Amino acid sequence: MDGLAIILSGLVGLAVGSFLNVVILRWPRGESIVSPPSHCPACGTPLRWFHNIPLVSWLALRGRCASCGVRIGWQYPLVEAATAAVWAGNIAGYGLTPEAVRGIALLTLLLAIAVTDARFYIIPDELSLGGAVLGTALAALPTGPTVPEAVIGAVIGGGVLWLVALLGTWAFEKEAMGGGDIKMMTMIGAFLGWKGALLSVFLGALAGTLVFVPIAWKSDKLVPFGLFLALGAALAFYLGEPLVEWYLRVLL
Ligand SMILES: [Zn+2]
Repeated sequence: MDGLAIILSGLVGLAVGSFLNVVILRWPRGESIVSPPSHCPACGTPLRWFHNIPLVSWLALRGRCASCGVRIGWQYPLVEAATAAVWAGNIAGYGLTPEAVRGIALLTLLLAIAVTDARFYIIPDELSLGGAVLGTALAALPTGPTVPEAVIGAVIGGGVLWLVALLGTWAFEKEAMGGGDIKMMTMIGAFLGWKGALLSVFLGALAGTLVFVPIAWKSDKLVPFGLFLALGAALAFYLGEPLVEWYLRVLL
């Protein structure tokens, strides 16, 4: 039963990942995600159903369009495999529980946001604000923050980043952080409560500094901060309690 549940959730994750690829490529451009149906970005040929099977089709066609042979990017199979891993992993770790539902919802949203931000420097409102609504609704489940705690988490999560953005703009005399990051933090706060939101910002800023400063030092590249916030929030969700306890032990 357990093995079957894990495999089934992995398969659903594959299909969701396939949908996320569409979302990631279309929402930043303000395009519809339902029409036109999936087509090759180079030659425009609509995909036949057997060319649209997650992971399998990309591997079978060796990453090329069936009609014109243009290379189809790594994003497709990677996002599909990662989403499948999120779905199967949460069921494997938590079983069929409310915690697994929260983990799947949060990590799927974070994955979509991270890839969109890394590629286009945009965090669509549908993911951030839509995710904040979803996180608040899921707070009705027996585990995790209560609904009032989710609302407070959303306000404090967004508020803290708004303050950081304000200070950054004042200190560097240019916009240091986008509104997308602030809205994303309302989503993270809704899922994790205010402590988890603060831990996410701390871990995200730490990861962003360690990874990106050496790269950005010479190249003047933009920082996709949403990517690092997503990483921080994922760590906060899975390691939050032990991490906060350890931190307090060290501090006291
Ligand atoms: Zn093509």
